Amino acid sequence: MRRASALKAYKYRIYPTDAQMVFFAKTFGCCRFVWNKILDEKLQAYKKKERIPRITPAKYKDEFPFLKEVDSFALCNVQLQLEKAFKYHFRNCKQFKLPKFKKKRDKQSYTTNNVHNSIRVDFEKGLLYLPKLRAGVKIGLHRTFDSKIKSVTVSRTNDGKYYASILVETENRKNKVVEPKSKACGVDLGLEHFVTVTNDFGSYKVGHPKYLLKAEERLRRLQRSLSRKQKESKNREKARLRLTRQHAYITNARNDFLHKLSKAIIDENQVVVVEDINVKGLLKTRLAKSISDSGWTKFLTYLKYKAEWYGRTFIQVDRFFPSSKLCHRCGHKNDDLALHDRTWCCPACGEIHDRDVNASINLYFVGLGRPEVTPVERALVTNRSHHASKQEAQLPTVEQSAY
Ligand SMILES: [Zn+2]
Repeated sequence: MRRASALKAYKYRIYPTDAQMVFFAKTFGCCRFVWNKILDEKLQAYKKKERIPRITPAKYKDEFPFLKEVDSFALCNVQLQLEKAFKYHFRNCKQFKLPKFKKKRDKQSYTTNNVHNSIRVDFEKGLLYLPKLRAGVKIGLHRTFDSKIKSVTVSRTNDGKYYASILVETENRKNKVVEPKSKACGVDLGLEHFVTVTNDFGSYKVGHPKYLLKAEERLRRLQRSLSRKQKESKNREKARLRLTRQHAYITNARNDFLHKLSKAIIDENQVVVVEDINVKGLLKTRLAKSISDSGWTKFLTYLKYKAEWYGRTFIQVDRFFPSSKLCHRCGHKNDDLALHDRTWCCPACGEIHDRDVNASINLYFVGLGRPEVTPVERALVTNRSHHASKQEAQLPTVEQSAY
């Protein structure tokens, strides 16, 4: 299922001049203004149970002439985003809440489209050209692309950094496809270790990276420090800024980890099998915090689309498949297994299991397409896993630019 063309986003830090910052601030402000105006009118109709009107930004341009000064595509995109938000809400009102009014304190952004080369990147000079801006904006190009630009989203974070996310249409994906070394692998998601993987070569566990755990510790410290500061004080503002920066750091670091891990797994295996964790169900329990922090949902999304990119098979087993409870050696189902049982002894064959390794082996078997495994294969896998799971395997290194 490989599509011929696809959209891909490249995000770069940009370094606008003071004048460009003013232009961005104006555009952000106008987008926020139009968003709130249109939203207000739509919500009023919604409350009166009337048909929700379709409103274009042009409606406000005579009354508020400053709207004519900014990029009109940016305002158009606000209208489209709002229409999308309402559409999603009516399709599934539980998952998608009604859109909210935008505040100045929120993250600022605007999206503009490329029409007749109005958006260009000069890779040699390191400049990004945007509509309504005569001079290019300095851009930190850590990687290149040679596809057609579709749109750009300019954003400013709460701590004053600017980014441009460039959406491009790729005709022919340049990603290098590596021959998989292993036929299949089973990936078990855990709380203690982030994942436990079994493939043709055995089992290994990948823990949560130490730098992430440390960063989270620092985050909690900063949160406590903020709550102790006096309201409206300068020190409180400083503490808030430090906290925002730490949040941003953690998000980036975690995404980086998830991208590298998913890429390594996709490179190594032809078939990737994961459990269909009922994340939403689990989130209601006491485990909620650690699960939402561990980024499972994101990780599965990355695995899925990378599998499609690189021509691998991604299988998510039914959530009733008892991957943890099944003894991979004799197939006995241990219904007494509790969530806190990290190791268990199979009452039927006496094999002692590491909970996560056993689960990933069962998923691996699904990947091999042979739920009925012959004793020889079973023995092979058992021996190997015994060997390999003793020490935690290191993450295979991948090229930074490859994902
Ligand atoms: Zn057994």
